[in-house]
Amino acid sequence: MYITPIKYNPLPYPLSHSSSLLLNAHCHLFNCPSLDKLLEDDNRIYISNALDENELNHHLLIKKSNFFISTGQHPLYPKDTIKDSLLIKLLDDNKIYAVGEIGFDKRNKNLQSQISTFLNQVDIANQYEKPVIIHCVGHYYELFNLLKKNFKKVLIILHAFNSSIEVINMLNEFNIVFSIHNKILKMKKARYILHEIISNHRFVFETDTGIKNEHDITLTISNIADFMGVEPEKLLNGGRTQT
Ligand SMILES: [Zn+2]
Repeated sequence: MYITPIKYNPLPYPLSHSSSLLLNAHCHLFNCPSLDKLLEDDNRIYISNALDENELNHHLLIKKSNFFISTGQHPLYPKDTIKDSLLIKLLDDNKIYAVGEIGFDKRNKNLQSQISTFLNQVDIANQYEKPVIIHCVGHYYELFNLLKKNFKKVLIILHAFNSSIEVINMLNEFNIVFSIHNKILKMKKARYILHEIISNHRFVFETDTGIKNEHDITLTISNIADFMGVEPEKLLNGGRTQT
């Protein structure tokens, strides 16, 4: 597989350094037993998601330059866990890197409330010029239509992408970064989908909840590299977002 680097608009740090630093673009470190040890290595960077105020308060106490926080109303969990007013306060105080994970999940049958929560929280992120981390299980067309109508420019980190090449092509018109999780390898057309994502050069890797709460991003990267038949370094360099 041959990857040609091409130029894209610069992304904010640490997304801009996902090839030179080991960035875990979406993880949940609240319950991670080896958290202190993970954060000792400055060459590894984490964007950790807080799902509720308890997790958020834990995250806010961590003062490490390689630890970034995202928070927002997850579509599968009880309503108003992270209220809009709290998000605004966090953004005013510059406490979080991104708004998310927010979005859609077909297992939650109340689509209307997911839409209104999503629109409010993307609007807040947009006003503060922060990225949004999107969780999307089903409902990709709703996501596309809402973004197209309301938020064409917001920077999207689409976490654990698991849909089709058609959906990738549809979403590529946005300011989007695809976040790759190991579970993509379980998809039937994983090779084609990964090839499409990698050829567009806007991708990062993640562990999400981790395997037994472990969050070694090098495992994800080497699994994907093995599967695609490339060296991990080459895979990372192909993903360079600035040239
Ligand atoms: Zn997650």
